[in-house]
Amino acid sequence: MHLEAVDTVGVVGAGTMGNGIAQVSATAGYDVVMRDVSEELLAGGFEDIQASFESLVARGTVTKAEAEAATDRITGTTEMDDLADAELVVEAVTEDMGIKQSVFADLDGICKPRTVLASNTSTLSITTIASATDRPEQVLGLHFMNPVPVMKGVELVVGEKTSDETVTLGQEFAHDIGKETWEADDKPGFVVNRVLMPWINEGVRAYDEGVADKADIDRGLTLGTNVPMGPLELADHIGLDVVLDASETLYEELGDRYKPAYLLKRKVAAGDLGKKSGRGFYDYE
Ligand code: NAD
Repeated sequence: MHLEAVDTVGVVGAGTMGNGIAQVSATAGYDVVMRDVSEELLAGGFEDIQASFESLVARGTVTKAEAEAATDRITGTTEMDDLADAELVVEAVTEDMGIKQSVFADLDGICKPRTVLASNTSTLSITTIASATDRPEQVLGLHFMNPVPVMKGVELVVGEKTSDETVTLGQEFAHDIGKETWEADDKPGFVVNRVLMPWINEGVRAYDEGVADKADIDRGLTLGTNVPMGPLELADHIGLDVVLDASETLYEELGDRYKPAYLLKRKVAAGDLGKKSGRGFYDYE
């Protein structure tokens, strides 16, 4: 399938990443159907989209009229069947293989035969996700970065059976919505999280072991290596639960050097998930 055949983009999950993917797709002119499991979660997704558009309008990145037109192109639903018309579906649900496989098996039954199915997984195997479908050649990873409307990069993850045509479609779609891409083989963590997750965990351990206070760990990394955010601030931004899930997958697949930091696990157990819960390593309330 060629990009010209894609009119409607389905997005599964209206959380941090799903609502961002819906927003950038609609901004580029696609009709979007965004699905989550409850009206409340959908409403939260639309609130995030509105807040993001407000800040983009304030910065002059989009006009108010463009933001309104894009918002009108997004339909929210709690019904999986409403994704039937999409030619491309991007899944952005919880980072759990069982949940993702069940979503892909459902999509495989609901969507048109030519529809391409993409996962925004941070670390899970695209090949294993695709094995829940009868169309593994039409499954790839489209790994967006957070916040989606701001971050330019999309990692294209190529599973064992992903066809060249599917990779091309994913790449053309990403370029069409204003992103830049690189390809990664389907190995745990792909390029970005394979390198990023141990970096964050080491920052958490450095804090836990008293190397410096948290603000100075973040200042040290921003001033010392020219990254926009230090590891603790970035973990809060990504979501500590998301970081922990990703770290656990990498630990299981790649061994000890990916062991999640103890303090990360303790924070998640306490419900301190970062910005989205109002508190992580820092307070946001
Ligand atoms: P999130 O917790 O903010 O959102 C996940 C959403 O999926 C929730 O609203 C949940 O209700 C919904 N969901 C769960 N099961 C569903 C189903 N069957 N159908 C529809 N919706 C369902 O998580 P997130 O941060 O948006 O992460 C989503 C995916 O993106 C994960 O795979 C994560 O690893 C990946 N990712 C996250 C980041 C990040 O910085 N947060 C960056 C890149 C990739």
